[in-house]
Formats: sequence, C-alpha cells, structure tokens
Amino acid sequence: MIVAMQETASEQQIEQVIEHLVRLGFSVHRTTGERQTVLAAVGARIDFDTRNLQVLSGVQDVHRISAPYKLAGRSFRPEGTVIVFANGVRIGGKEVVVMAGPCSVESREQIFTIAERVGKAGASGLRGGAFKPRSSPYSFQGMGLDGLKLLREAGDKFNLLVISEVMEISQIGEMLPYIDIFQVGARNMQNFNLLRELGKIKKPVLLKRGIAATLEELLLSAEYIMSGGNYQVILCERGIRTFETYTRNTLDISAIPVIQKLSHLPMASDPSHGIGIRDKVAPMARASVAAGADMLLIEVHQDPDKALSDGAQSLYPEQFATLMDELRIIAPAVGRTIAKSQ
Ligand code: PEP
Ligand code: MN
Repeated sequence: MIVAMQETASEQQIEQVIEHLVRLGFSVHRTTGERQTVLAAVGARIDFDTRNLQVLSGVQDVHRISAPYKLAGRSFRPEGTVIVFANGVRIGGKEVVVMAGPCSVESREQIFTIAERVGKAGASGLRGGAFKPRSSPYSFQGMGLDGLKLLREAGDKFNLLVISEVMEISQIGEMLPYIDIFQVGARNMQNFNLLRELGKIKKPVLLKRGIAATLEELLLSAEYIMSGGNYQVILCERGIRTFETYTRNTLDISAIPVIQKLSHLPMASDPSHGIGIRDKVAPMARASVAAGADMLLIEVHQDPDKALSDGAQSLYPEQFATLMDELRIIAPAVGRTIAKSQ
C-alpha cells in the first residue's frame, strides 16, 4: 500500500501514520521527497480498509497495490483453472463450452424438445431454472424440484451436463443429486451466507456478476466460495445496469479479458441476459467468444412467444444451431475450438 502525505503534513502527523501502520502489522518504508513524504507499507493484511488511513490527518492519498482477494487472483494459479467433468467436458481449457436451454423448465415436453435440439447443435450442457428469481412475486416462480428432475432426465438422455440456479441455502441439498453446476444468479452474487455454504460442497459453481457489481466485488464473492475449500468456480458476465434503455442490460464484454488477467478462474458470458433482445444475442455471443470467453450460457426455447420467462431473449433452436456454426468459425481465429459433446 502506498500512502502519500500532504505537502503540508507535519513530522508529527507522518510519525502518527507510521505508528498506525506498524500497529497493523505493516513494515513501512519512508521516502521523503523535496515536497512530499511517501510511505510504502508492505506485508499487509488482505482485509484492510484503506479509508481507515485516508481519514488520518496529514494523509493525501492511499493506494492499494495488492488485490484484496488471494485465492481468486491469477497469481494463486498462474496456469489457470480447468474444471473437468466426468464425461470429459473441460471448462477453462482450449475448448469453449456452450450450455443452452430455456430460462425456466416448464414441462417434460418442453425441456426434452429443447435438450434434443441444443444437443444436436453441439451444446455441452443444458440450462434451465427450477427455482426462479423473478422481479415480481406474481410471475412464474419455477417448477422447483420437479423441474430439476426433468432437467436431469433430459440431460442424461441427450448426454448434456446440467446447470440450474440455486437461490437459497436450503435448496443446496435437494439440488445436489440432480445438477452438475450450481448457478448463483446476479441477484444473489452478494448473498454471502449462500456463497459460504457453496464453499463447502464439491460441485462447480457458476457465479454471475450482480447488476451493479464491480469486477473486484465479483472476485471477492468468488473468494467467499473458495475460502470454504471449493475452488471450482466459474465467473459469468451477464450484463450490468447502465443508463442505456434500448437494451435490457449492457453486456460488459471488457469484463472477459479484464477478469482473465486478474483471475485464474474460467470466465463465462451470458449474452441472453446481457442484452435481453433475441436478435442481438447471437452478435454478443460471437463477440464473447472473440473476446476470449471460456463458456457461453444461452437461452433457447422452441416456442419463445409462449415461454413462461424470458421468451423475448430466447433463441429459436434453429437460430442457436446457426450461431454454433458461426462460433466454430470464430473460435479458431482466437486459438480456441468449440467443445462438442455429441
Ligand atoms: C437466469 O439465468 O435465468 C437468470 C435469472 O439469470 P440472472 O441471474 O443473470 O438474471
Ligand atoms: Mn432467464
């Protein structure tokens, strides 16, 4: 940490700041320039709140030089994390993994139809919410456990991994036998109790970025899961809320390369929620792969006009198949291939 003292800071104020830092366990290196004194504090506690220094008299500026997360940081595993599944799918390696399916599981017929179509198009996984976080309590809330069972059956039939959202701690146990990846939704990115519990299990967790979360906050949320011992975390950009109203959210494509520099964790993109409009999903999916995404999560519905949630952003199965063909052309341009499970 670097503490720059004000030009007018007295010797006593400088001494007080040094004492404060030493008390906190830092070793302090002082540089006295012509106009200003700068203190470099090393060996820091990771949880330190820089504002505690900012408010001391005589301090002009405080800069953190080490990241406040350590397990999620790139230096923890410079070679990158690859999450390997029993069926051979690997997330975080050279192959880009695509998981697709409806926003919500709605019926046996619906999930089996979609699973077959996305599987044929080359998806490696099937998505589908069974517990749905809806903005309105009057909207469809999901099929619950029955939906999860259908998702698992459809996944098994078409050789697809399954991913579904967990909304609260009590659901973890009942979901465990049915899913391959727990999805933590944007609204729960900072549900720290839930994250801690997911740190105790041995299944991968896909952690979505909150609608107004910084990337540092996303990484700190991943740290919650990892500090419990579960290192199988996938981060996911799914759009943030900005002043733009022509799209549902603003998919922050820049999050992909930025996170990949900061962290060793695989980075996914969800262009469906990211932009929220069907005909714009494919361009954003293509851009995500070009930007280096390790995984895509895409909503597909065979009859989106009748979907019980997010129909407007769901691709028709044939649109998804075309997109997969395009991704197979784009991926090699950036040194990747699209994983294929069929
Ligand atoms: C979803 O994937 O259907 C979902 C609700 O996502 P998010 O948490 O990104 O809104
Ligand atoms: Mn959705």
